[in-house]
Amino acid sequence: MRIGCPAEIKNHEYRVGLTPESACELVMRGHEVWIESGAGAGIDATDEQYREAGAHIVDGPEAIFAECEMVVKVKEPQAAERPRLREGQILYTYLHLAPDPDQTADLLASGVTAIAYETVTGPGRTLPLLKPMSQVAGRMSVQAGASALEKAHGGRGVLLGGVPGVMPGKVVIIGGGVVGFNAAQMACGLGADVTILDRDPEVLERVGTHFESRAKTRFSNSANLHDAVSGADLVIGAVLIPGAAAPRLVTRAMLGDMQAGAVLVDVAIDQGGCFETSRPTTHAEPTYVVDDIVHYCVANMPGAVARTSTYALNNVTLPHALRIADMGWEAALAADPHLAAGLNVHAGKVTHPAVAEALGHVY
Ligand code: NAD
Repeated sequence: MRIGCPAEIKNHEYRVGLTPESACELVMRGHEVWIESGAGAGIDATDEQYREAGAHIVDGPEAIFAECEMVVKVKEPQAAERPRLREGQILYTYLHLAPDPDQTADLLASGVTAIAYETVTGPGRTLPLLKPMSQVAGRMSVQAGASALEKAHGGRGVLLGGVPGVMPGKVVIIGGGVVGFNAAQMACGLGADVTILDRDPEVLERVGTHFESRAKTRFSNSANLHDAVSGADLVIGAVLIPGAAAPRLVTRAMLGDMQAGAVLVDVAIDQGGCFETSRPTTHAEPTYVVDDIVHYCVANMPGAVARTSTYALNNVTLPHALRIADMGWEAALAADPHLAAGLNVHAGKVTHPAVAEALGHVY
């Protein structure tokens, strides 16, 4: 199969669909890989590295969209890219179609077969192609929070790990799923005083067993939340109710009971945020202050560590890409119901029930 990887054109997107190592794997299996010149610049992968991996470097995206049977990307195709998609072509990328009727209409009109990373499933109702980005965001949330706690960045001047003779900072993590677990790993590693709140007893048991005495667990109800947040130096919002907007767990009134200069990092901002005072920010200006509390609410945290994020993403996307390339998309999806759950658009129709329902399409 001929597989193409254009440079990402979404604002401030530095990741790339295929690393040189992934291109090499595809080439070793007898496939042809076309990479747009400069596509790897955001992760420091040069055209020369892709050439050494056996890929062809092409100038501009036109030839990739016109002549490749499968296009591998990171972000959903932008308005300028969508007219280039065509019938019979496979598009393999994050799509997030549910809130995006314009993109959906263009994909349907193009006749493309679109497999969305975010709906590919794994055992036990997991979403393995989303997981690495939650791992990255969870780990980043602690370093973002630690930086915001510095006095010059508006924080209360607390070092999370403390030093001998001085107490460590208090980190409160709301939600013990993938983001929360990874945040706890970093915070515990720094030597902070860590508390994880969740409302799912199984999650509390899992994190309690894993972290033992290095982190405390607490059931998430409003009294416990209020108490934990009031004494915290850093609060990390990591809740998710699948398919719903994040619940507003920390109200503006609660900020008044927090210590001035404490920091809120709202990782759940991509679902609307779990603090009442959250609003999306960018890497260019990641924080703002409300009622003396520093807020960090960057909606695409993994974008800041594009190299790590690209490699983490490729680790989970490449095995499916190899199977699609080896077997053809129909056989690959027929052989793997988890990959089949990724099919969002085919032959001018939305083919994923939940996405179709969200868009008001007949499935
Ligand atoms: P997850 O499903 O693994 O974990 C969510 C956890 O929240 C679950 O354990 C659940 O029980 C818990 N929860 C639900 N309601 C709660 C409540 N009222 N109190 C306490 N806990 C509650 O999800 P995840 O992968 O960890 O993702 C968390 C959020 O981070 C999602 O909104 C996700 O989209 C977002 N995210 C953001 C970025 C970013 O760049 N900002 C990157 C990746 C993920």
